[in-house]
Amino acid sequence: MSQSPKLPPKPKAPALVPASKGLCLFCKQPVGLNPYICPSCKQEYHRECALNAKREKKNCKKCGQVMLLK
Ligand SMILES: [Zn+2]
Ligand SMILES: [Zn+2]
Repeated sequence: MSQSPKLPPKPKAPALVPASKGLCLFCKQPVGLNPYICPSCKQEYHRECALNAKREKKNCKKCGQVMLLK
């Protein structure tokens, strides 16, 4: 009884989706259909969040570009 059984390596958990892809940086929720896309860095935001940001004179969290919503 000198041999200890080898435990199989634990399977690695799948890597989380990078936060920069498909997540609105204002509310940290997945951006659904019809997002607002920053023209400068292509970051996606909810249209609602982008509108709120524009009202509050906030810029793109990623590149600082002003929100260019119609
Ligand atoms: Zn959002
Ligand atoms: Zn941007």
